[in-house]
Amino acid sequence: MTDEIELSIDGQQLQVAPGTTLLEAAEQAGIDVPVICYFGHTTANGLCRMCVVETKGARGLQPACVTAVKQGAEIQTHSPDVVRARRTILEMLAATVDLSEAPEVRRMMDQVEARPERFAGGETRQPPLLDDNPMYIRDYAKCVLCWRCVQVCAEDAQYTYALNFTGRGFHTSIGTFFDKAMPQTTCVFCGQCVGVCPTGALKGKREYLLEQGVAPEAIFQQTRAPRRAGRRGMGDEDVAG
Ligand code: SF4
Repeated sequence: MTDEIELSIDGQQLQVAPGTTLLEAAEQAGIDVPVICYFGHTTANGLCRMCVVETKGARGLQPACVTAVKQGAEIQTHSPDVVRARRTILEMLAATVDLSEAPEVRRMMDQVEARPERFAGGETRQPPLLDDNPMYIRDYAKCVLCWRCVQVCAEDAQYTYALNFTGRGFHTSIGTFFDKAMPQTTCVFCGQCVGVCPTGALKGKREYLLEQGVAPEAIFQQTRAPRRAGRRGMGDEDVAG
């Protein structure tokens, strides 16, 4: 097709449709570009900067998830500058956030030989674990601010708007309006935020309690949602207490 864009990625020539992002083009070429905030079912925002690539002749590095292909571009996805940028981002993340339940991020760290101890001794994020509803817990000490949960809660899926950014700079966090407990927000407990969280910051309450060694019967008691008066539905007879 005449309107296709020709470019090279890591020396590999390819043709892609106009509007294709560099991340999609790399995927078409079979090249793995690491991502944290990018998620195939949500709008790309270029927040985490893990997917940065180097374009010959361009100033700085470009986030591949939000940068469209250009005719004749020569892209490097793993140049020394790119790897150094990813390593620094991961080191700063690991020095401030608990990544113990983020295996994909830890794998990326191994790939670039990240040494978070370079940033040891600084302030770390240690907000208290929020356990305010029967469905899921929020442990923002593990949050990397990828924004996936906010996006699925809003226009990308649920249109519920229970979650958003709060705070500024280092103290930016995910939260609710006026820090309300989840049952006092517009949350409908669809669970999509838990499903897209890559770090274990959001976790199903039953999974969390099992990890804490709580007995299954006690877990059932703690996680059974109270039936709302006048709203009996299919299956209520099975869960009525
Ligand atoms: S809670 Fe999870 S999904 Fe939400 S921003 Fe933090 S890491 Fe991302």
